[in-house]
Amino acid sequence: MALKTAKEYLESIEKMVPRVYIGGKWVKNLLEHPVTRSMVMANSVIYGLAEDPSHKEVMVAKSHLTGEPINRNLNVARNIHDLDMRQEMALLTSQAVGTCNYRCVGCDALNSLASTTWEMDQTLGTNYNERFNKWLAYAQANDLAVSGAITDAKGDRKKRPSQQDEPDTFVRLVEKRSDGIVVRGIKVSQSGAIGSHETLVLPGGALREGEEAFALAFAVQNSAPGLTYICQYNAYSAEREMYPEEELGNPIYGQRETSTMYFDNVFIPWERVFHCGETKYSGRMVTRFAKAHRMNCGGACKVGFADLIIGGTLLAAESIGVEKVPHIQEKIIDMLRYSETSHACAIAAAMRGREEPKGSGVFLPDDLFGNAAKLNIAHGFYEIIKNAGDIGGGLVVTMPRQKDLQDPDVGPMLKKAFAAVAPAEKRLKIAKFLQHWSAGLHGPGTWHGAGAPQTQRFMFTVLTDFEAKKNLAKKLMGLKD
Ligand SMILES: Cc1cc2nc3c(=O)[nH]c(=O)nc-3n(C[C@H](O)[C@H](O)[C@H](O)COP(=O)(O)OP(=O)(O)OC[C@H]3O[C@@H](n4cnc5c(N)ncnc54)[C@H](O)[C@@H]3O)c2cc1C
Repeated sequence: MALKTAKEYLESIEKMVPRVYIGGKWVKNLLEHPVTRSMVMANSVIYGLAEDPSHKEVMVAKSHLTGEPINRNLNVARNIHDLDMRQEMALLTSQAVGTCNYRCVGCDALNSLASTTWEMDQTLGTNYNERFNKWLAYAQANDLAVSGAITDAKGDRKKRPSQQDEPDTFVRLVEKRSDGIVVRGIKVSQSGAIGSHETLVLPGGALREGEEAFALAFAVQNSAPGLTYICQYNAYSAEREMYPEEELGNPIYGQRETSTMYFDNVFIPWERVFHCGETKYSGRMVTRFAKAHRMNCGGACKVGFADLIIGGTLLAAESIGVEKVPHIQEKIIDMLRYSETSHACAIAAAMRGREEPKGSGVFLPDDLFGNAAKLNIAHGFYEIIKNAGDIGGGLVVTMPRQKDLQDPDVGPMLKKAFAAVAPAEKRLKIAKFLQHWSAGLHGPGTWHGAGAPQTQRFMFTVLTDFEAKKNLAKKLMGLKD
């Protein structure tokens, strides 16, 4: 079986027994807790999209290992078309669930691993690529949901991993055995790891000689002994625990669910280890992951969110009769300007993608355009939610509970208060949707997901040939040195 159905994914989740903690409770079954359920339901939609013939080109790829049809989330990009469909998948999945495609980070991590394990084998004579391909063939054959763990807890950002007072702030090797390795440490902000069958773990940054213990990449199974997931918990989690789904801003799929992954001496067999001690390649692994992830999560995914926000904002304008007012239309155009330029950058990153390294057969997006996509939307997203809040009006944050409309005492008063061009029920539903976006977790989520913007600014300075630009200007001015 190379493609799982949504139903088969949900059945497979019932069989997993991860150690998951959320808001003061241990969760026995991910489908029973309303918050963990929202994450799993979103993932099931991603499986479902691949079943839909109209999305086949975007969601289904051909395995370069077996020639079989596979979910694109497990595909290694082999050409420009693959890259383009990858960024289109990020757009489509965001439009469909209004939250993470929780398989996205894993997809970009496996592309980085395909490229970097090949390079390590060529130069170091290791057999990481063969191991990785075996694991990938197994993941593809079983259509596994794979998340990606890159971000370490990091502790004091001024200090190197080995200088931290608390060594667990970075995932590291603690024992090398004949049959595998033992790892410990903490990865934070892990999107959808709780409901993934496997997680690919990569180093969190470039490493130096002497930091071999942190130069690690491996695949870990969801319920591996010693692995604990502590879920994020916030006002939206509490609301989801208290209210029925239909009253929430994104009823079924929720905000975006992450967890802290604590590795407490977790054993990883050698066949699942793809990088162990070769510090020179850790930075490349992270950079290649970031290249892919900035085009996808940084660029195209947020364009899908923007489409939903713009749609909700248009409905809000219509519900109070301002949809034809010039300044409202201008604000909508501004929202489109930010989202469409980010999509254009993501497409450009795919179109200018290239094989990296030469001979590997792995295609990665263009770095500069990918970073431009992410940096543009990090800023643009705040503008988009600002305009959604503007056009949505104060109601977006001052609305009563939707259920209050049915209350025999206050319901009739509220219906009078909030009926405009649209009835009160419709207005409150739209306002709740916009509240979810503009007063929720998505602003900082978009800012930091795929790396804090300072990292993209840094990449601009590294990737740009400033001298060439000065020379162009000097030539035209007739300025001689
Ligand atoms: C919604 C969401 C989902 C995510 N999903 C995943 C996931 O699935 N997998 C994953 O691995 N990660 C994930 N992340 C993590 C994401 O990649 C990080 O949040 C991001 O890289 C920033 O790291 P940080 O959160 O530790 O911020 P910090 O490193 O704490 O950054 C805070 C500030 O300090 C600055 N700063 C930090 N270090 C330095 C330094 N050395 N020098 C100068 N300035 C510095 C930053 O630029 C920033 O301004 C997710 C994050 C979010 C918000």
